[in-house]
Amino acid sequence: MKSIIVYRDDVPPLNDYPRQIVSPRNSSACCHSQMVQLGQNDLDDQWRFYYKRCAVCGFTVRRFYAPSLLALFEVGRELRVALAEMNLGAGPQKRRTRAQLEADRAAARRGPIRGEGQTCGSVRSAA
Ligand SMILES: [Zn+2]
Repeated sequence: MKSIIVYRDDVPPLNDYPRQIVSPRNSSACCHSQMVQLGQNDLDDQWRFYYKRCAVCGFTVRRFYAPSLLALFEVGRELRVALAEMNLGAGPQKRRTRAQLEADRAAARRGPIRGEGQTCGSVRSAA
């Protein structure tokens, strides 16, 4: 996600959150104690953040505070696909057929690693 902050000194500061924020290019002495959060927490490609704006001069920054879980899941998925492509399965069979490799890749793309034969949400009813 692209920042909504525009840094300019030739026009007055403007708070039109969440559409646009015009901020002075540099912070001032007031900014050390007057920064307040604007709006809700937001999500960048890699990080969670919120906008912090100085109540006095309008200087605004994005405050990044945590990695995005979505980004981490995406990295995990890429790792699983890479491992499947390297044929590093821990099964008893050393060499797998092309169809088995393709199935492994598809499974890695779908979701988290699960044990053999285990399916998500399946419940065996007692007889
Ligand atoms: Zn300030």
